[in-house]
Amino acid sequence: MDLSRQHAALRPQLQSLYDHLLESGQFILGPLVAEFEQKLAKFCNCNYAVGISSGTDALLMAMIALGIGDGDEVITTPFTFFATAGCIARLGAKPVFVDIHPTTFNIDADGIESAITEKTKAIIPVHLFGQPSDMTSIMAIARRHGLRVIEDAAQAMGAKHHSQNAGTFGDIGCLSFYPTKILAAIGDAGACLTNDANLQKKMLDLRVHGSGGRETFNQIGGNFRLDTIQAAILTFKISFLNGWIEQRRALADRYNQKLQCPALGLPIEPAHSYHSYNQYTIHVFGQMRDKLQHHLSVHEIGNRVYYPKPLHHQPCFKHLGYQPGQFPVAEQAAREVLSLPMYPELNETEQDQIIGVVQEFFALD
Ligand SMILES: *Cc1c(COP(=O)(O)O)cnc(C)c1O
Repeated sequence: MDLSRQHAALRPQLQSLYDHLLESGQFILGPLVAEFEQKLAKFCNCNYAVGISSGTDALLMAMIALGIGDGDEVITTPFTFFATAGCIARLGAKPVFVDIHPTTFNIDADGIESAITEKTKAIIPVHLFGQPSDMTSIMAIARRHGLRVIEDAAQAMGAKHHSQNAGTFGDIGCLSFYPTKILAAIGDAGACLTNDANLQKKMLDLRVHGSGGRETFNQIGGNFRLDTIQAAILTFKISFLNGWIEQRRALADRYNQKLQCPALGLPIEPAHSYHSYNQYTIHVFGQMRDKLQHHLSVHEIGNRVYYPKPLHHQPCFKHLGYQPGQFPVAEQAAREVLSLPMYPELNETEQDQIIGVVQEFFALD
C-alpha cells in the first residue's frame, strides 16, 4: 500500500489545514472535532459520532459505556485483529469465541445462541476486511436474549448490509482511521457511532476521563480524545470516500474476473451486502498459501496474511482453555488466507502485473 499517492494528490489542501491549525493553537478536541463528528454521522447515516483516539480505544470505551466488566462474557470471533478480544479481557470480562463462516470470514450467526450463558452481556461482530456481518440475524439474536451489540467496524467504514451502514445496527459501532484503513488519518484516530442520545453523552464524558472536561467525575473514563489535526484531515478526506470505495470495488471486480481458478477461493459478496474491500483477501487451497506468498514476495508484490494465528491460539488467552481444532473454520482460514494489494490509487497496469504473477504461479493464462 502506498499512502503517499493519496497525500500527493491532496497536498496543497492538507498543507493549508496544517497552517491554519498551527495558527489556531487548538490541538485537542474543539470545533473541528465537532464538525468531523457531524460529517461522519451524516456519512454513516446515524444520529451521533464521537471522535476517539484510536479504533482500539473506541472498542474499549464502547464497552465501558455499556457497563461491561468483571465476570461478564462477551461473544466474538476468533478470526480478527487482536484488539477486539484484547479490549474485552482488559476490562475483566471473558471473550467467548464462536467460529466463523468460511466465505465471509465473519462470525457464523448460527453458532452464537449455543454460546450464550446467563453471564453473556454482549456480542461483538467484526465486519472483517470490509465485508459486513449478518447483522439481521445477529440483531434478532441480541433482542431475543437481551444482549448488547458493539460492532467492530474498524475495517468496514462505508460498507453496507441491506443498504444500512456497518456500525449503525448495534448499540455502538467502532471505527478506526489507522493509516491502512478505508478512511486514513495521518496517525492514530477512531470513532464511536450510536443512535442513542444517552450513550452519546456518556461517551463524550468518558473520553475525557469521565468528566467531559469538567471537575466532577461521575464515571471512570480515560484519555480517549481525538487530536484536532486528525479531525481536520478526516473531515477533508471524507468527501472523497465514496469514490475511493468505488475504486476499491472496481479493483476487486477485476481481481475476481482474472483470478478464477480451482486453487483459489475469491471473495464473495452476498446479494444484500456492499463490501468496502479494506482488504482483498483470498483463500489459497491445497497448502499452497505460503508458497504463493513467497512467490509474490520474490516478485516484490506486497502481500499480508491477516491473520496467521486465530485468537484462541494466542498465548495470552491460554487460560480460556480453548483447544486446537475447536474452531476449524477459523483455523483453516488462518492457514489459507492471503491479502493482495488493494488501495484506491493502485492502477490497472500495476494490478495486471500482480495478476500476472499469480497466474504465472498457477500456470494459468
Ligand atoms: C484496526 C483494527 C482495530 C484497532 O484499530 P486501531 O485504530 O489500530 O486501534 C480493531 N479491530 C479491527 C478489526 C481492526 O482492523
